[in-house]
Amino acid sequence: MFALVDANNMYVSCERVFQPRLVGKPVVVLSSNDGACIARSNEAKALGVQMAQPWFQVRHLERTAGLVAVSANFELYNDLSSRMMEIAARYAPEQLIYSIDESFLSFAGVGGNLAAIGRELRAAVLRETGLPTSVGFGCTMTLAKLANHIAKTADRKPGIYPARYAQVCNLADVSGEQRDALFAATPVGDIWGVGRKINARLTEAGITTVLDLVRADAAALRQNFTVVMEKTLRELRGTACLSMDDAPSTKKQILVSRSFGKAVTDRAGIIEAVSEFASRAAEKLRQQGSVAGNITVFFLTSPFRRGDRQHAVQVTVPLGRPTADTATFVQAAIHVVHAHFRADTPYAKAGVMMGDICGKDLPQGELDFSAPLSTRSEFKAAPDRAGLMQTIDVLNRRFGRDAVHIGSTTAASRPRSLRSWATRQDRRSPRYTTRWAEMPVVRA
Ligand SMILES: [Mg+2]
Repeated sequence: MFALVDANNMYVSCERVFQPRLVGKPVVVLSSNDGACIARSNEAKALGVQMAQPWFQVRHLERTAGLVAVSANFELYNDLSSRMMEIAARYAPEQLIYSIDESFLSFAGVGGNLAAIGRELRAAVLRETGLPTSVGFGCTMTLAKLANHIAKTADRKPGIYPARYAQVCNLADVSGEQRDALFAATPVGDIWGVGRKINARLTEAGITTVLDLVRADAAALRQNFTVVMEKTLRELRGTACLSMDDAPSTKKQILVSRSFGKAVTDRAGIIEAVSEFASRAAEKLRQQGSVAGNITVFFLTSPFRRGDRQHAVQVTVPLGRPTADTATFVQAAIHVVHAHFRADTPYAKAGVMMGDICGKDLPQGELDFSAPLSTRSEFKAAPDRAGLMQTIDVLNRRFGRDAVHIGSTTAASRPRSLRSWATRQDRRSPRYTTRWAEMPVVRA
């Protein structure tokens, strides 16, 4: 048995934890640079705000409908996410964190009333973090995901499903008749892994609901769709084809990138930005206990500003041996900037990506002598400074993210607060749970 635990409207719910005045109001969360709506409360959805809709298109709703927009506060969302994941993990022997607000739990070998366990879990997450969640159970991961969809929809839009499935739904605990009714009420496009294209082709073939699909002829489906579709069908019929091991528990790719608040034309600005991103990425690597064998550094102008001088750089630097050392990555990133930066060019975005990620405990073998000599001599990983890195992480966790940082993340010529590349986030809420200075104050 599997469960999928998913926070409802994660980003908006995180904002509401500390700003209860937002409860019941239409709220959207804006992407970096306050460009587009990346999360919507149910009330905002009801106003017709679409996912990824540009802010300027819905801005008028601020005045006419009381729409509230906030800048994304990922530091807050990530912190609440890890708290929520820890709580969920208490209830099952195995957990797979699938995204910032979703985790699968495996209840293999666990007896008892699962729906009751689900309600208890849900109550604990709500009590300890303030986040509302939905919990779905099923004997395959695809069914757990579907059960979660039913639990969430029954809670949000009464009428589609019977109210007893709201918040917690166990598809393994319904009669065949009830299951068919639930499947018949669910459009096939709501199934995990069925995207827009497949949805359109299924609809063309006369398959519009989940019930149509589970009753479809497997052989015919196999001919017209991929093997993935066949797996999905088998999972819906109750045969587990996916396991928690299929999805890697550590990220195989770590990308940190950002569009700048305004164009950056000076070398120091780009160095600051890539140093910061490399530091962030290294921190993420260490968090998941991994090391990386190379780092890709990129910075580019905006392709949308045709009148501007255009330039795009993307360079992968192989490292002598896999590492999680911040200084090594930052050094490599700065090297790329010095080698490729062009003056008088309005750069609009930059980022770094870690490559060849593996667990730090795997045998790493010898130095890579196939790498060109120049890179080998320049970026041979520094002597093992794991202890130093750990100390930096501990200090930053305790005293706030910037307590200890690499010097190049701040150009000597200007205070950190005046970084030219900083993202515009005019509406960001305080980082209540991760910065001492922004901790909420209660007067009693
Ligand atoms: Mg969610």
